[in-house]
Amino acid sequence: MITGSPNTKQYTIVFNDITNDCNLRCVFCPSPFSGSKNNMFMNEELFQKVMTLLPLAPDGNFVLSCGFEPTIHPHFTELLKSIPMQYRRKVCFTTNLARRNLSDVLIEELSQSSLHHINISLDSFDAGVYESLRRGARFSDFINNLERLTRVFSRSCSAPPIRYITVVCRSNIDEVPSIVEKCAKQYLSAENEFRYFWITDRCDRQWVKDNTVTYEEWKDMANKLSKLPYRYSLAAAPGLSPPDPSSSSSEYDRFISEIQDPQKRAVHTIPPAPHALWIQSTGRVDVFGYDVHFDLNNISEPYDFFKNLLEILWLSTERANELRLFVAEALKLRGETAGRRLSEMESRIHGLKVERERLVDELSDIRSSFGYKLMRFYAPKIDRICPEGTMRGQLIRIIRRIISGEHNLPSSD
Ligand code: SF4
Repeated sequence: MITGSPNTKQYTIVFNDITNDCNLRCVFCPSPFSGSKNNMFMNEELFQKVMTLLPLAPDGNFVLSCGFEPTIHPHFTELLKSIPMQYRRKVCFTTNLARRNLSDVLIEELSQSSLHHINISLDSFDAGVYESLRRGARFSDFINNLERLTRVFSRSCSAPPIRYITVVCRSNIDEVPSIVEKCAKQYLSAENEFRYFWITDRCDRQWVKDNTVTYEEWKDMANKLSKLPYRYSLAAAPGLSPPDPSSSSSEYDRFISEIQDPQKRAVHTIPPAPHALWIQSTGRVDVFGYDVHFDLNNISEPYDFFKNLLEILWLSTERANELRLFVAEALKLRGETAGRRLSEMESRIHGLKVERERLVDELSDIRSSFGYKLMRFYAPKIDRICPEGTMRGQLIRIIRRIISGEHNLPSSD
């Protein structure tokens, strides 16, 4: 049962995955695939636990699937159906839409879903380019699915808006303006996002070297886009790193420093003090920025647990915001001053990390303490006997704060 109130504090974003594999092996993909033999589809019970966390995310920021391909889940349609209607505005997901003959039932269900939006990966309308990037996909399957999906979506007022995501590299950069135009005119585009690819150890180094666009090319593309009457955004992945350590391309270095400069980039690369969760299909939950993870399978009241965790994360918000401003400032500086500021920043980051570790330990101690367990067990009864606004109510709140180590952990919602 979902118990959240719309006024509750929220995570910046919640990422979820219902599988840990994909039907494709895109050349720039950063995801660590399980392989089909070890794929772990999220089961119904776990999915329902995940659903209890919906109130903890803002609209459009509960990502049902992002790192892998949701349409390969054998029960994807049923899972979609089970998302509570009042929270569907929170949900979005990303798909490559390249499964052969995507089922009509799924397309119909999606068209009625009222989700916040869906992202479709689309790198080219040229079959050769598309297939060279989206390895394992057939362009004919993709376009067939896209045609059917947009036809059905155009007839439904509950259909989610479609955002297209294009990974920009040398082979498709010239096509970018026409991609925007075609998506807007033929394929119901609400927005096109152009993304610089993530570079990880898994990327083929030669491919990265051959496909990295220069700063001038990127700038030229942005310039052409700005003249079009369509909605688009430019994004660079956080943690972007140079394509090839042996490369000494000054153009590329300039490109990196420009997109990291908050004054010049179109889209933020430094997220504002994020409180984010990443839920894997196995049930493992990682808390972004903290070296901790939990197993959702073992948490009987996930909403309470992650809401209380959020209370603790918020204690650091003020300092994290300060740090973000500091990072932005440091990036604007150059030379010796920048070096001094950056080392100061590093020591602040270390301080913040230590503080976070302490808070996580405290949370765990508090939750396992006898007093806290007792308080939670009797909470509903105590709330009835000691209503808010009475002397007894005030007294019980003081006692709760003492038991919660001054962290203002609520005992019930
Ligand atoms: S579709 Fe997405 S998850 Fe699948 S291989 Fe491509 S980039 Fe990776």
